[in-house]
Amino acid sequence: MKKTVHQIIWLSIPFALLLFIVCQSGEHTDEWFDNGLVYFCPNCRGDFYPDAVGECENCNGMTSSCAFKYCYDCAKELNVCQYCGVER
Ligand SMILES: [Zn+2]
Ligand SMILES: [Zn+2]
Repeated sequence: MKKTVHQIIWLSIPFALLLFIVCQSGEHTDEWFDNGLVYFCPNCRGDFYPDAVGECENCNGMTSSCAFKYCYDCAKELNVCQYCGVER
């Protein structure tokens, strides 16, 4: 019985390590994207589709895409994602 418990513990170590590595690699893409034109959270940094201009919810100014919630300046000031509005 004790042996089985030990085996389970030993078997679970690679899985725990794998989970740890996955979590670690997840943190690498946890960086915010800021190139001086757009300010994105890690979730939105992948999909940037410039299209028609939009309106900023904060200052009613122009955004570089109608998909954006905020203009670049407001996103930086509020420290939120320009695309989805999530707080940093
Ligand atoms: Zn604005
Ligand atoms: Zn976002």
